Amino acid sequence: MVGSRPGDVQMKQRLNCSVPGCTRTRGDRKGDVLGPYIEWICADHWKLVPRWMKAARNRARRRLRRAESILATVAMVEAWTTVHETARRADAAQWRLWKRLKRAAIERSVGL
Ligand SMILES: [Zn+2]
Repeated sequence: MVGSRPGDVQMKQRLNCSVPGCTRTRGDRKGDVLGPYIEWICADHWKLVPRWMKAARNRARRRLRRAESILATVAMVEAWTTVHETARRADAAQWRLWKRLKRAAIERSVGL
C-alpha cells in the first residue's frame, strides 16, 4: 500500500473510509457514484457496526427511496407536501443513523 502506481495521478477522486487513520479508499461504484455528501465505511470497519444500526439505516433509506419515487408522480399539491415531509424525515433519520453508525465503527476500531 506504500507508493503510488503511475495510473494514480489521473485517477478520479477516491473516497476514504470514514474511520480516521484507515487507509482504505474506493472509487465510483455502480449505483453509488461519488458525490459531495457521500461517506463510506470500508468492509473491515463495517463489520464492527452493530447489525441493528445497519438494519435501521436501511429501513430509513428504503422509506426515502419509496417517498422519492412517489414524489415524482404525485400531482396534487397536498399529497406532494405530505410525501415530501415523509422523504425529508426519512432522509434526516438516515443521516442520523449514519453518524451513529460511523461513531460505533470508530469507537470499536480503537477498542472503546
Ligand atoms: Zn476503514
